[in-house]
Order: sequence, then structure tokens, then C-alpha cells
Amino acid sequence: MFNLILFGPPGSGKGTQSDKLVEKYGLKHLSTGNLLRQEIADKTPLGIEAKSFIDKGQLVPDEVVIGMVDSFFELHKDASGFLFDGFPRTAAQAVALDKLLSLKQTSIAAVLALEVGEEELVKRLLNRGKTSGRSDDTNEEVIRKRFAVYTNETSAVAAHYKAAHKFQSVKGEGSVDDIFAALSAAIDKKMA
Ligand code: ADP
Repeated sequence: MFNLILFGPPGSGKGTQSDKLVEKYGLKHLSTGNLLRQEIADKTPLGIEAKSFIDKGQLVPDEVVIGMVDSFFELHKDASGFLFDGFPRTAAQAVALDKLLSLKQTSIAAVLALEVGEEELVKRLLNRGKTSGRSDDTNEEVIRKRFAVYTNETSAVAAHYKAAHKFQSVKGEGSVDDIFAALSAAIDKKMA
């Protein structure tokens, strides 16, 4: 299996690049944000609980997210690899992911981190909010809160994978195609 984490702050382009990467490399896309939004749309108990956190720009509790990832693995036992997008977001999630993968006799090959400046991120998110129907993208206060959470909690994920020598930064500003080419080059090197 080849498993990849696409890492980066809200609005850094993880979703856009994930769609292209899973197609090119035949990976299964696991976006916890997408899974949570589907639960919300389906009005499941999990979705109703998650919505109260998401609307405030807070993280959904670890056990909820980890349980969701575990179920996703159960549904996709035949996958040749996963691309994780928006997960893991806390140190506890990273530890849980490593454990779940080791049960499958596999591990994370690389963590590619999209680097984008904060003012560019706010601009992109407010712009996305105009058309995406995502209420967490229309309120600048909620957006700033998500950056604070990213800095305070999600940076531990970067540290976790830096210690394992799996972390690599990629410039996330420029054209979609240029960023895709840079990500692809990093992946090809890892696969070789
Ligand atoms: P973005 O990267 O733009 O914030 P996502 O779609 O990845 O968008 O996530 C949207 C929201 O869903 C987050 O702000 C958070 O509340 C929740 N969420 C997504 N993934 C996780 C996760 N791994 N752990 C906790 N909460 C999560």
C-alpha cells in the first residue's frame, strides 16, 4: 500500500489537489471534512453532534473522527492506498492513524504540506464561501478560529511526522497545475 497525508491549513487547496492526486495514483480519498459534511446532510446523530463544533470553527472530538476513519477502512479493505485529507488534525489522531495502519501492515509513506500565507487563505475561504454552501467559510471570525486551531493543535501533527522524517513542505501558491506538478514530483520520488 502507498499512503499519503496531504497536510496544510484550511483553504490551502487540499481538496482540489486531492481530487487530482487520487485519480493519478489510484488512491482512495479519505477527507474527514467531506465525511462529516455527508453525516450532517444525512442528519445522523454523528452529524448533528459534529455540526455544533464545525459551526464554531472547533475540531470535532478525536474519538468521533477516529471511529469514522476506522469505519471507512472497513468499507475499503481492498484499497491499494489512501490519501488522507484533513486528517490527522491532532497528535492523538496521528497516533491512532499510525496504529490503524500498522494493523493493516502498512504505514504513512509521506506527509506533503501545502504552504500558503494567511491573508491569501482568508481570501480563498471567503471566496469559496460565496458558492460552496459551507457556512464555516462565510464568517471571518470562524475562519480565524480555524487558523488558531490549526496553529495550536494541528502543528503537533507536523512535529509527529517530522520526527519520523516523513514531512515535506510544498509551495501551495501559484497555479493549480504547477502545485499539482510539485506534489506529483515529490510522490514519484517517494514511490521510486
Ligand atoms: P478546512 O480544511 O477548510 O477547515 P475541512 O473540510 O477539512 O475543511 O474541515 C471542516 C471542519 O470539519 C473543521 O473545521 C473541523 O471542525 C471538522 N473536521 C474535519 N476534519 C477533522 C478532524 N480530523 N478532526 C476534527 N475535526 C475535523
